[in-house]
Amino acid sequence: MSVLSRRAALGLGCLACSPLLPGRAARASESTVPKTSMTPDQALARLLEGNARFVADNPMAPAIGSGRRHELAGGQGPFAAVVGCADSRTTPESLFGAGLGELFTARVAGNTITPQSLASLAYSVQALGAPLVMVLGHERCGAVGAAVEFVTKGTRLPDPMMAMVEPIVPAVRAAQKLGGDLLDQSVQENARLMAKGLREHAAFRALVPSKLRVVAARYDLDDGKVTVLEG
Ligand SMILES: [Zn+2]
Repeated sequence: MSVLSRRAALGLGCLACSPLLPGRAARASESTVPKTSMTPDQALARLLEGNARFVADNPMAPAIGSGRRHELAGGQGPFAAVVGCADSRTTPESLFGAGLGELFTARVAGNTITPQSLASLAYSVQALGAPLVMVLGHERCGAVGAAVEFVTKGTRLPDPMMAMVEPIVPAVRAAQKLGGDLLDQSVQENARLMAKGLREHAAFRALVPSKLRVVAARYDLDDGKVTVLEG
């Protein structure tokens, strides 16, 4: 992952610990690729348009060729960051028809926020100028299912996999109060809680909503549709 080496090269240090100082931002702006000019609403509309075409089997033609690759060799200006599940069926670039340099993605099973993904997201917003963060849960998520099993039956996955499950437990407990299908309610609640945590974090809250939107969304494995839940 180039973020860490790039951060090291730029001397950015702990991005989650403090907002980027102007000098640091200036270093990031040395990129030969401009930051996106999209507003948060435009970025969301672009994601949803790409997803609608994915659903309709008429996918966008993302730029992934050598010309685009050369353009991006000197930097990046993604228009959105996506917190996704590591599940092989939920690749954000595919769901949204995005090409090289368009999406900054942080993926772990269960689409939770780790300290490292938080730092990465702060970098994508503050240094790279992404105006949108989407936390994308998905139907029948195995990690969320494991959290449901843990909460309802006490079933534990072998080490080290509980570290994937534990951050989802508060979402399951909240979902138990909602009624309906516990797994799907937990998927949605998990995305909402992760998005809320980002929105309220010191690294982001001053930017919301004029310069940044943080939305929670759910991906349907059956029909391919991404639905925005809130934000
Ligand atoms: Zn999943």
